Amino acid sequence: MSIVEYIGSLSDVYGIADFSIEKEELIEMYGEDICKYPYAIAIGHKMIEEIIEKIPLTYTDDDLAKEYLDEYFNSFQRVSKIADKIIDYIQNEGFNAIKLDVSGTNPELNLKKPFSNKASANLSGIGWLGKNNLLTTKEFGPRLTWATVLTDAPLGEYAGRPIESLCGDCQMCVKACPGKAIVDLPNPKESYSPEKCGEFLMKRKESGHQVACGMCLYICPFGNKKSKELMGW
Ligand code: SF4
Ligand code: SF4
Repeated sequence: MSIVEYIGSLSDVYGIADFSIEKEELIEMYGEDICKYPYAIAIGHKMIEEIIEKIPLTYTDDDLAKEYLDEYFNSFQRVSKIADKIIDYIQNEGFNAIKLDVSGTNPELNLKKPFSNKASANLSGIGWLGKNNLLTTKEFGPRLTWATVLTDAPLGEYAGRPIESLCGDCQMCVKACPGKAIVDLPNPKESYSPEKCGEFLMKRKESGHQVACGMCLYICPFGNKKSKELMGW
């Protein structure tokens, strides 16, 4: 089995980013070490559908909120293990590979700022940052967790290119966000307010509830069939 076949067998979605394509911009943003390995593999792993579908109930049911929070963290653990297997496979093929941790760093790299999973997935062309600032894919919307492997295995022929946002006129997450943390602007840096999102979560905590909110993840029509029908897509 080739390396990409192996990656595909373990991932729900994956993409390859070739750092040589935008090398200067990447080095300016992250520092020289970001190009120590020429390729990034973005590995997408689906969260459990049944749990995501219950998100609207989590605002009145703390057990369901806890179940969602647990799944959020467990899915990170699962995708991290998938990344470890992919690293082993690549190393057995005679190449080097390292994993970025959840904060987007690795002790081997001296980066100016973390290189996030969102960045690797976006550069590899498998998704875009939605108005909710979540990495959104055509197939599953934002209902995925991500891991990133950097490698020198020769994967250039499989590399993708960043894609434009497909949010268009959709305002589903804007209207559904209970914290009013999303506005209808195309640039996620302007549309999504981490402060307002944080304030909403803090209010949940202060009123004795689980610190959970995933409405923007749930509602996106790229992963939600009912929203998709409402959008007429
Ligand atoms: S997590 Fe909740 S409050 Fe924060 S942006 Fe998403 S829907 Fe809004
Ligand atoms: S809900 Fe609509 S606007 Fe929000 S991220 Fe998804 S497609 Fe974009």
